[in-house]
Amino acid sequence: MSTSRPNADVIVVGGGPAGAICALMLARGGACVSLLHWGGYATEGIELVSGRARRFIEQHCSDFFSQAAPGVEIHETVSLWNTRKPVTFNAMFNPWGPGVAIERPLFDGALRNLASAAGISMIADAKVVEIERTGDGWRLLTRSTGASSGDADTERSSIRARFLVLATGRAATAFLDRSSVAESSQIALMTSLQAQHAEPACAPALRSHDALYIEATGSGWWYALPAADGGYFAGFCIDRNELKQRRVPLKDFFFQELQRTSLLSPLLSGTTSIAPICGRTAGAITFNRAAGDGWIAVGDAAFASDPLSGMGIEWAIESAQLGAHALLEAMQRKMQRGSTAAFAEYDDAVSAHATRHGKTAAQHYGWLQESKYK
Ligand SMILES: Cc1cc2nc3c(=O)[nH]c(=O)nc-3n(C[C@H](O)[C@H](O)[C@H](O)COP(=O)(O)OP(=O)(O)OC[C@H]3O[C@@H](n4cnc5c(N)ncnc54)[C@H](O)[C@@H]3O)c2cc1C
Repeated sequence: MSTSRPNADVIVVGGGPAGAICALMLARGGACVSLLHWGGYATEGIELVSGRARRFIEQHCSDFFSQAAPGVEIHETVSLWNTRKPVTFNAMFNPWGPGVAIERPLFDGALRNLASAAGISMIADAKVVEIERTGDGWRLLTRSTGASSGDADTERSSIRARFLVLATGRAATAFLDRSSVAESSQIALMTSLQAQHAEPACAPALRSHDALYIEATGSGWWYALPAADGGYFAGFCIDRNELKQRRVPLKDFFFQELQRTSLLSPLLSGTTSIAPICGRTAGAITFNRAAGDGWIAVGDAAFASDPLSGMGIEWAIESAQLGAHALLEAMQRKMQRGSTAAFAEYDDAVSAHATRHGKTAAQHYGWLQESKYK
């Protein structure tokens, strides 16, 4: 069955943090917005919302982290990079205070509810399969699955709008004619661990359940975030090629490597995997462009940061704000699609962010190369 959806000023594709916040800001700015969301690529697991990102969300919904998406407050980072002495720093050097470790599906759903309450039109379970230019804007073809899990197609629809926001995360390469100019080949192996707290041999005083733990080893770097149930969510980021060369089952490999850590191994000693180990493409992805004639990309679809920065959600929010501002400016000035000043400025802002991020990441990977913990 095929239907046609009503027009909107802007279509936002993707209901992760970037899409939800961009739709919210556009609606607050007076635009008529449709948000298309399909959960098939949605992120699972626990992530850290930085203090700055947290403050932004709380400005729009003061009880967000106590009611809508409760998590564990993170007050410090305990980090071990090429030194035998763990380094701690308060709230990740963040001037805006502590971050929060959140369950992503819960967090994303609460952000979409926030956008929905601002009056956007939410089209759930709609997978965008094709994006087409038309004379005066965009036409998107969607397939409705009836459930986020990817059931058989039940309905095909098309929707039109004057402007397009691509917020599809790392799946963004499937749309528009653009390529990734730089991509690192990191993969993250992650699982939830049930903790039976043991004092870490290296620094007993450091163990706390409100810290983010980061540790470099010779073959990659680890992180652990506390879960609300007292356990941890742990991830190991490694070069994809290096992983391919190991010929042991993934679970064995994960726990063998965990044993080699100095900080995390004592912290997580006695833990057992209660969830399967899943893999996720990590590493930074830079695209040749983040905006153009009547379209912008936000969040990971504009620039996907390396997870070691812990700043992906913050960037999703920052880029969503910048992108919404650029679109509203274009609309207010009644610019034609060919007039791209606001979009070009946005594109520049994304490039500058990617460059800054690249320098920091290079420094960390430099330390990793020198790491004595093989
Ligand atoms: C291993 C790892 C750990 C990380 N840890 C952290 C952390 O602790 N803190 C942090 O701040 N960041 C972290 N990040 C980065 C963070 O996950 C991303 O930066 C963030 O999710 C980007 O948000 P987004 O909205 O741009 O994209 P996403 O969160 O990927 O959202 C995109 C949405 O679009 C939907 N979608 C995709 N294609 C379509 C389609 N065709 N039609 C309709 N919908 C579609 C998807 O289902 C998804 O819901 C981590 C990343 C990795 C890889």
